[in-house]
Amino acid sequence: MSSYESVIGLEIHVQLNTNSKIFCACKADSWGDPPNTNICPVCTGQPGVLPVPNQAVIDKGVLLAAVMHADIQQVSYFDRKNYFYPDLPKGYQISQYDLAIGSGGYMDLPLEDGSTRHVKIEKLHIEEDAGKTIHKPNRRLLDFNRCGVPLVEMVTGPDLRSADEAADFIRRFRQLLRWIGVSEASMEKGQMRFDANVSIREEGSEILNPKTEIKNVNSIEHGRDAMKAEIKRQIKEVEAGNKIESWTLDWNEDTQTLSKMRSKETEADYRYFKEPDLLAVKLTPDHIKELVKNLPELPLERESRFIKEYKLPNREAKVLTSEKELADYFEGILEHFSGKPKQAANWLINDLLGMMNELHLSPTELFLTPKRLAEILKLVEDGIINSSTGKDLIRKTQQQGEEPRDIVEQEGLGQVTDSAAIKSICQEVIQENPDQVEQYKSGKGGVIGWLVGQVMAKSGGKADPKAVRETLEGLLK
Ligand code: ZN
Ligand code: MN
Repeated sequence: MSSYESVIGLEIHVQLNTNSKIFCACKADSWGDPPNTNICPVCTGQPGVLPVPNQAVIDKGVLLAAVMHADIQQVSYFDRKNYFYPDLPKGYQISQYDLAIGSGGYMDLPLEDGSTRHVKIEKLHIEEDAGKTIHKPNRRLLDFNRCGVPLVEMVTGPDLRSADEAADFIRRFRQLLRWIGVSEASMEKGQMRFDANVSIREEGSEILNPKTEIKNVNSIEHGRDAMKAEIKRQIKEVEAGNKIESWTLDWNEDTQTLSKMRSKETEADYRYFKEPDLLAVKLTPDHIKELVKNLPELPLERESRFIKEYKLPNREAKVLTSEKELADYFEGILEHFSGKPKQAANWLINDLLGMMNELHLSPTELFLTPKRLAEILKLVEDGIINSSTGKDLIRKTQQQGEEPRDIVEQEGLGQVTDSAAIKSICQEVIQENPDQVEQYKSGKGGVIGWLVGQVMAKSGGKADPKAVRETLEGLLK
């Protein structure tokens, strides 16, 4: 049996997060709205109406093209892509064909083994979405809310080499979309959708074999499973001496199987021509410069800077840069507590992230601002509270909406460092537990931990555990 490698290219559609649709003033995001409530004569294709391009859509397209290292075209055009489908009331989709806003480009995907996969971008253009067909028994319902919603379509080269790589690419791309603020890219809300073109070839070969296209996956994980299943199927077919046919496949997530949908349309079927109702999209170099100037440091750059500058382990750097707001929060702590970035990272990842998920809050929605978390870290650093009190204080500050220092004062959470106070509690514990003291004295050193626990409990968790241990050891000598 020969050894095969998979060849995967992705076609991704992203909904841009503009207020209004691409060619009319209707609200763009209809998530949760009743069907056919955000529509007008333009987006439902009534005779005699004219589309008016939304500058915000073009600007967000430029930003995305810039971060994908595409050449931004100063002049691009809209084209009509003609096809007949019930949820496409105009009978055509306004898209961009040969002269699109972005040309070329790539994304370097970091791989597990430390190398990178250079993924070329073959197409990057803006277009409008079609409506939605809802299939019910014996009837079809049409919702036009999505007609005219702005999209970017991006097609990668056949450069990905496994289902896991392709899934990683989509994750990194989604991270980038959110990071630069052009889309929330929620697959659950249909704001990001992807199809995967999958083929196989013998390891080391340069040939591109016939591919199949997997459609209708609604999560990155399902997409990865579908690609894995399809790669396996193709290998089996080829091993059995059969040819791979260019099918379009539909992933059924319940049965974890792929089924044939229809044979693929070719580009000629769409009879593209320039949209006669729209002028060329013209961008001045100054306008492009102005847009690109405001782009933030990108996630991969920031991740490697966190590793270098703050000496964070790779895993922590990756978690902290998963969302821009989180990375900003982390560096916000360091503005007030600069000495120990590793410690700040640990508290953020181990104690704050869980609470944020639980409360469904994003970093910017917290009462516990970076400055307040830095304050808690300082209280621990200065020995005013111990670290377990500090962790409780994270939750208390958020819940009570009060300053950490005030809570420590009001609730008397300050660490008992007074050695006389600690000594007197230790003496009490020794008196109350003669059996354990006897065991300790007869050589069972481990009992000391239990005794420390008793003292900690009596102090309401506020004693410094290290001082307690030392005091007990001194008294029991
Ligand atoms: Zn409209
Ligand atoms: Mn498209």
